[in-house]
Amino acid sequence: MDVTPHNQGRSPVKLEGHCLCGNVQYAADTEVQFTAVCHCTDCQRQTGAAVSLVIGIDDDALTIEGDSLKTFITRGEDHKSNTNRSFCGNCGSPIISRIDAMPGLVFVKAGTLNDTSWLQPTSELWHRSAQPWVPHIPGAEIFERGIPVD
Ligand SMILES: [Zn+2]
Ligand SMILES: [Zn+2]
Repeated sequence: MDVTPHNQGRSPVKLEGHCLCGNVQYAADTEVQFTAVCHCTDCQRQTGAAVSLVIGIDDDALTIEGDSLKTFITRGEDHKSNTNRSFCGNCGSPIISRIDAMPGLVFVKAGTLNDTSWLQPTSELWHRSAQPWVPHIPGAEIFERGIPVD
């Protein structure tokens, strides 16, 4: 997928966010590598929504705090490795995902950001399981499956 920093210059200087109850807080001072929605059935189930909205950033730049952070592991059909889905065990908000096959990258659930005004998804992942009433995001590239992994 195209990992051009589309949001460079538009995203906040520092990314900050938190879960619904506020116990889990995170921050990252880094460029956003991509903004995507994921239509996969695991994301639909985890979020209870039609899509998961994520930004991809450098994992080393992320600091995350909160003793209620828990992780549930799902198995990626595409990358055949673990998807480590971290959420607040107190309020249930999904916060981040890390995929073992994509070291160095962390997906942040973008609805938890303090400032969401700049978000503009440029990719739609796992479109083959998209709910049929979800409109196509103008200008976004459609992937029938996930992010290609070598
Ligand atoms: Zn919480
Ligand atoms: Zn997904």
